[in-house]
Parts: sequence; structure tokens; C-alpha cells
Amino acid sequence: MRIAIASIMHESNTFAVHPTTLADFHVHRGAEMVEHYRPTFHEVAGYIAGADEYDYELHPLLGAGATPAGTVTSEAFETLVGQLLDELRTALPQIDGLLLALHGAMVAEGFPQADGEIVRRVRALVGPDFPVVVTHDYHGNAPEQLVQDATALIIYKTCPHIDQPERGLQAAELIARTIRGEVKPVSAIVKPNVLFNIAFHNTSSAPMKPLMDAAIALEQQPGILAVSIAAGYQYADVPAMGPSIVVVADGDAELAAREAARLGEMMWSVRDQLIPHIASPAEAVKMAMAAAKTPVSLFELGDNIGGGSAGDATIILKELLDQNADGWVVAIYDPEAVQLCAQAGIGGAVSLTVGGKTDQMHGPTLPITGRVRTLHDGTYEETERRHGGGRYFNQGLSAVVDVPKRGEPGKRAGLLVLNSKRTPPMSIHQITCMGIVPQQQRILVAKGAVAPRAAYEPVSAQIIEVDTAGATMINRPPAEFKRARQSFYEWTR
Ligand SMILES: [Zn+2]
Repeated sequence: MRIAIASIMHESNTFAVHPTTLADFHVHRGAEMVEHYRPTFHEVAGYIAGADEYDYELHPLLGAGATPAGTVTSEAFETLVGQLLDELRTALPQIDGLLLALHGAMVAEGFPQADGEIVRRVRALVGPDFPVVVTHDYHGNAPEQLVQDATALIIYKTCPHIDQPERGLQAAELIARTIRGEVKPVSAIVKPNVLFNIAFHNTSSAPMKPLMDAAIALEQQPGILAVSIAAGYQYADVPAMGPSIVVVADGDAELAAREAARLGEMMWSVRDQLIPHIASPAEAVKMAMAAAKTPVSLFELGDNIGGGSAGDATIILKELLDQNADGWVVAIYDPEAVQLCAQAGIGGAVSLTVGGKTDQMHGPTLPITGRVRTLHDGTYEETERRHGGGRYFNQGLSAVVDVPKRGEPGKRAGLLVLNSKRTPPMSIHQITCMGIVPQQQRILVAKGAVAPRAAYEPVSAQIIEVDTAGATMINRPPAEFKRARQSFYEWTR
């Protein structure tokens, strides 16, 4: 048995101003694709491990991914999908199936449901009976068409995402059993009429945990092959935006439909728990300064870099400075400021204007004076399981600026980390590599919503989510959505 593996993944924020271009994608092909993914905790690593586990040969096509940002350009989409289809066409006589890792929230110019379009084209090429098992991120906005075109769809069950290899293996087992004729996957999808704000995506706490527990229990039942819940991605204004429940049964379409509907009712029944009450920046900083146990981590929801925002928001930093807090660490994407720090050298005094440069959504550019404490090439390694499953990271040339406290020049207010590449805070080594010991700080700021928990919970006494403006603000008015359905419970109640 020979199975092709491929991946094109992007989470596209349609409210972010900068498009995602071909140059933003890292592409790995053939044997190099296997080499790249094997040491990670990505679902493609699960596809690769499945070759030994379920006795098939790997036929790697291509793996492409880019940091979440704005809509993917038509050129990037057509180039990558064109390459995928060309390689698939060539491989077809030699392969028995395709494992395809898609994010589920990619938006391309002309194709709001870009993942659905990829699966549509793949199906058109391979014919109706060829096994194509797709995996999705938990933040996917699956349309019904994708579920019909795929042989089966399997979605991560954790947020932060730490079960990607298991989902890859599950897809591997399902496709191997399908090819051997042991099972016949049939699917049903239900999309409950709730937005399910990202503030509630944590799979370790209610309201999502009981829903996911029910999905996991259902998956153990006879006749059921896979049960998934995607929480959805509210920063892509697309027709299928919102959560999805996908049940794959063995040959029994009615069973799949009935169980998907039952889980859909369960999700609908928690609708009144889905209204967010999140601290303002002023409240959050005040709470953090008063906390007895430290460090307190503040999650800057409006600048969720992993959700496609700018990475240079200054809203919490400004609040920390205004309230004259100390013991803080804030990381901001600002290549210009990094260059000035590099010119000043370690120990050099700097006078910078920091952040707020990408667009008008993420707070003002702030004047910062201080002393360069660290310069670093920006590379670090994460060997633990963290959100996204990545192992090797590169935030580009980076600096730490020691910022003195207002009115007490001998005392430090905080450590400002400046980097040259937009880098989501998925690994604590983003700051430990710069010589910062998180446990010795009072306030850590992470630009994200739920995903950074895997990295920050182990070092934090407390996590406070902060409602800030930005491309990933959590309370965007419904009127700003043009393609999403307007009937969500949260918007109409
Ligand atoms: Zn995700």
C-alpha cells in the first residue's frame, strides 16, 4: 500500500491589512518534506509514523505553511495548489490514497473557503472513489462541501493544540483501513448557530470541555469511526465561519447524521455561556500589579499573532507604562527598533519609537528609552509539546531593552523584547533564549488567546485575558462581517 501525503496550511485573517504572499510560505517537497516534519509534533508527523504503524509506504508530495496573516494572494494559492495537483496527477498510478493536512481557515482571493476549493479540485482529479482523508486545525471553518468531497475529515481535539500527531495517526489508520476495505466512512456535519468566541476555545474548561468529552465518548461507540468538533475561526469573514461538528460513521449515514445532530443540540444548549466578559487593559494591569503570586501572564487578545494580527500592538505596554508597573516582559515585533539596538550594542543606551507601525489597529507607537541588555540571532528550539507542534523557531535578530522605572531611574520597569519576525508566543523559549527567567518576573505579556497556555501555564501563577483592540479583537461588531451569516445567537439575542 502506498499513500501520498501533502499539506497546505494557512489561517487567514480577513481583517489583517497585509496579504499572505507566495514568499511567506515555507515549502518542503518529496523526501525533504518527510525530514522536515518527522521530528515535529505536527499531524504530518502522525502521517509519517502511520507508515510503520499501519504498514504503508509514504509518497510525499509537498508541505507548505505560513504564519497566520491576511488573505492569501491568488498567485500564492494557484501556485501551491497547482503544484500539489501536478504532483498528485503524476503520483496517481502508484498510490492508493491521499492524506491531506489543511488548516481549514485559509482564505484566498476569490476563494473564501480555500480549503474546500482545494479538496474540490483534488476530488475532481482523483475521481469519486479514491480515498482522501483530510485533517484540520480546531480553528477550521469547515463548509459542508468539503465534508462531502473528502472521504473523511478529522480535526484536532485540543486547544492549545497538543494532539496533532495523534490526529495524524488517526487519519493514517482510517485511510489504511478504508483502502483495505475494512471500513466505509460516511460523514455528517452540523454547524450550530453560535459564534463560539475564541475566549471559550480552551478544551480543558467549560463550556468546550464537556462537549469535547462527549465527542471523545461517542468516538468509542460501535459503528463510529471519528468524531470532531472545530471551534471555528472568527477572524475569517467567510460563509462557513463558526463551529462545526463532524461525525464519521462506518457505512451508516443515518447514524452519522443523528449523532452529529445530537452533539449540535448539546452545543446549542450552552449558548448562554458564550458571552465573553474579559478584563480591560486598565483592569488587567491593576490586577496583575496587585497579585500576591507571580508571575501573572496577561494575554493580549487583540494582537493574537497566531490568529494573524500584527504582533506590534502596544496597548498593554502603554498601560504598564501609564500605571508605572514593574517586573514586566513584553515582546513586540519591530525590525527597525532591533536594528537600532544592534547598532547601539550590548550595554548601549537607546532611544526608540516602538510598535504600532503595521496598521492603525494595534495602539500607538511608543517612545522608549533604555539600555540594550541582550542581542540574539532569534533561533530557539522547543522539545516539549506545545501549541502548533513546532520544534525549531526563528524570530529573527532580536534584542532585549532594559527599561528604567519612571521616577526611579536606578530601578527597572521591565524588559522589552524586540524581534524582527512576527512570532506567536507558542514556546517559552522565545524569552528564555534571551536570558529572561520567566519565574523571576512579575508580569508576562503574551500576544494570543488560548494557544499560549501550553507554554505559559507551566511558568505562571495566573493568566488574565485582556480585551484589546486589534485584528483579532474578540468583540468585532457584526456589521463588519460581510460574508459570515448574521444569525449567530450571540449577535441576535
Ligand atoms: Zn488553531
